[in-house]
Amino acid sequence: MLGAIEAGGTKFVCAVGDKEGNITDQIQIPTTIPEETIKEVIQFFSKYDLDAIGIGSFGPIDINKHSPTYGFITSTPKTAWKDYPFVQTIQEAYGVPVGFNTDVNAAALGEAKLGAAQGLDSCLYITIGTGIGAGAMVQGRLLQGLSHPEMGHILVRRHSEDPYEGRCPYHHDCLEGLAAGPAIEERWGDKGINLVHREEVWDFEGYYIAQALMQYILILSPQKIILGGGVMHQQQVFTAIKKHLKELMNDYVTLPDLSDYIVSPELGDKAGITGSLLLAWDSLEA
Ligand code: ADP
Ligand code: ZN
Repeated sequence: MLGAIEAGGTKFVCAVGDKEGNITDQIQIPTTIPEETIKEVIQFFSKYDLDAIGIGSFGPIDINKHSPTYGFITSTPKTAWKDYPFVQTIQEAYGVPVGFNTDVNAAALGEAKLGAAQGLDSCLYITIGTGIGAGAMVQGRLLQGLSHPEMGHILVRRHSEDPYEGRCPYHHDCLEGLAAGPAIEERWGDKGINLVHREEVWDFEGYYIAQALMQYILILSPQKIILGGGVMHQQQVFTAIKKHLKELMNDYVTLPDLSDYIVSPELGDKAGITGSLLLAWDSLEA
């Protein structure tokens, strides 16, 4: 039996299940401070005899196995979790192998093995929610270098009619600063869900996300792009993204039919937790 933790900024999801993605028990725990949240995580898993645990975590995190801070949450603005030894704590509690990666890399793995990118050996999973993050499967493996990529913070060209300064605390008008849910809310003065009929809102959104996709496509050439997160519940964003991507790319790269290429997660909101089960499985194999 495998354990999985999807660690998010507002909630933790813990589940037990198998490598086919079947989940037999699951709970949600609010993300407060490690002493409280992790205590409940440990309580939940203590009912089970687990072979391994997979963690898909908010970041930045250290996933470089040769680093002295491997397994830590590193420079998060959530101060209680800064420099938190996540893997070490879970390993000490259970003594089983622990798989560790970003929430979006976990989701990319889930979608590649059991979702929209099944049978392919490359895909991108991008979430547009409270923040923007992307996970990448490349040649059958989750992309990793010094540590994990941070594709949500790339720089984009300004929309000519957008004076909004952006809200990334590090870069102001990076992709996340201009296009994540809180940026939509601050720019237009209302939550995205209340702006459904304001065409310009979704046109800006499509313009910024399309630029990001163009850069990811030019660099990584993924076989499938999966877009999840709260903002992508607005189906009109898909339409705007495809329109702008077509214009920007200008047929330079031959792509599949965009309606087949840029899609919603097939696993829905279970992509991350399913991928975390697969991270557990991978840690057993390794
Ligand atoms: P998180 O990123 O915290 O895991 P979500 O992916 O749900 O959570 O993202 C939350 C953000 O998405 C908020 O800024 C919220 O306003 C926005 N959002 C959530 N649902 C919708 C929706 N249906 N339409 C537009 N924006 C949405
Ligand atoms: Zn940024």
